[in-house]
Amino acid sequence: MQSSQPKSFANQLFIDGSFVPSLDGSTIDVLNPFDNTLLTRIAEAKAADVDRAVVAARKAFPAWRDTSHENRGRLLLKLADAMEAHFDELAELESLDTGHPVRDAKMLDVPRSAACVRYFGGMADKVFGSVVPTDPGFLNYVLREPVGIVGGIIPWNFPMLSFVWKLAPALACGNCVVLKPSEVTPLSALRIAQLAAEVGFPKGVINVIPGYGHTAGQRIAEHPDVNKVAFTGSTAVGRKILAASEGNLKRVQLELGGKGPNIVFEDCDLPQAVNGSLFAIFHNQGQACIAGSRLIVHESIADEFVDRFAAVAKTIRQGDPLNPETEMGPLASRAHQEKVLAFCKQAQESGNVVIGGAAPDDAVLARGNFVLPTMVRAGADDIFFREEVFGPFVTLTTFKDEAEAIHLANATRYGLGSGLWTNNLQRAHRVGRAIRAGMVWINCYKRSAPGSPFGGVGESGYGRDLGLEVLQEYTYPKSFWVNYDHPTPAFYKR
Ligand code: NAD
Repeated sequence: MQSSQPKSFANQLFIDGSFVPSLDGSTIDVLNPFDNTLLTRIAEAKAADVDRAVVAARKAFPAWRDTSHENRGRLLLKLADAMEAHFDELAELESLDTGHPVRDAKMLDVPRSAACVRYFGGMADKVFGSVVPTDPGFLNYVLREPVGIVGGIIPWNFPMLSFVWKLAPALACGNCVVLKPSEVTPLSALRIAQLAAEVGFPKGVINVIPGYGHTAGQRIAEHPDVNKVAFTGSTAVGRKILAASEGNLKRVQLELGGKGPNIVFEDCDLPQAVNGSLFAIFHNQGQACIAGSRLIVHESIADEFVDRFAAVAKTIRQGDPLNPETEMGPLASRAHQEKVLAFCKQAQESGNVVIGGAAPDDAVLARGNFVLPTMVRAGADDIFFREEVFGPFVTLTTFKDEAEAIHLANATRYGLGSGLWTNNLQRAHRVGRAIRAGMVWINCYKRSAPGSPFGGVGESGYGRDLGLEVLQEYTYPKSFWVNYDHPTPAFYKR
């Protein structure tokens, strides 16, 4: 099956309620990762375009902040409905732009994105403050105020999900947003901005400005009139964001890289563990911050585990992402494919490849950015065990006992997702507590829900997307003191 091309794309900057070209007319080519043909040229935001988006957001902010919580929620609920009404279109758009198999986009990206918008639509009138017990005669109440203008910067691996994970809670809390999707995968964010305008979001509340990181992203991070940056991306860029933010000491939320340990104990349900571990690494071509990219398997079951795992991995169907039969698509860009293949080459040279370790040997797939499902043996000191490869590339390390498994799991500077497979209830909780990570999946992997906090520790960053926790990220507490029945003491006795 050949990729079909939608007729047109939203491909300009979305600023102040309208699609506009960039001020200097620059554009960026957006390629189809299946065959590297041109999908469209999008307007490229540069610093001056960021500035005008921030001006639009600043202008819209007072009215949006003072819009009733109920009405803010109602608009988000309408947006969720609109996304569901355009379900197939959004799934195909995301598939075309990112290389996600359309099967996955329909199963995960679109329904979960709509569910996130709906969840925070429902949450908009539940952003509670508190009343603090204090001295008699005083009332101390705490309101949660929106932080103001939120600058969002997101990566290319799950562009639709990342977009709504930032957008929906920020808007629910009364902020205006200037969001920069990745230059590689900007199309779904622009289309959802268009849907948001159609359902009635006021001008300037949502601004979407694709552009390069070192120009547009840098300007958002350093902008004196942006109050918070919500960033998802690599740890290296997270550091740059932090440095750029110092000018006005804006709030910074960092959702960064990961190197998820996936521990398989000898007392697990082996078929389940194999199945779940395949999903943990190969879903989305391994391009997931929470991927289970380090398999840590008990030595007594390692051979059987590898045989079963490899048998399925070798049969994963790679092909056109728009074909509903396709189980693994291309990586998002040629540059990223080359990076992953460089790790493969190194693994080939060191003789550690168990399966894969190359691009598929197929003339059609060679036009796109494909990498074979790959497993590589690695010790804790190996580069493959330490570095985030961000592709269909999993390491295999064996352990003798629980203590060694925990040691290996924690032998990383990251701490985002993690998982373990066991039928021993005590062990499951004990080991889960011992792993240093923001999320632990027991007998499952990569679960998420709008109500569950998502984020990491260590060099995986700080702050949380989703959950009730995210409401703290997008608001600040304002403490009111009211004297309703307390005589003011004569502090200066005259
Ligand atoms: P990246 O860090 O290269 O880019 C992320 C975003 O930052 C892009 O929009 C990019 O244009 C922008 N950017 C780049 N340089 C910048 C700069 N100097 N200033 C401001 N912005 C800049 O990441 P990527 O390659 O797009 O995505 C992959 C990375 O994202 C992986 O490390 C992955 O683990 C991480 N990620 C983390 C999470 C999470 O929730 N923790 C989720 C998804 C992806």
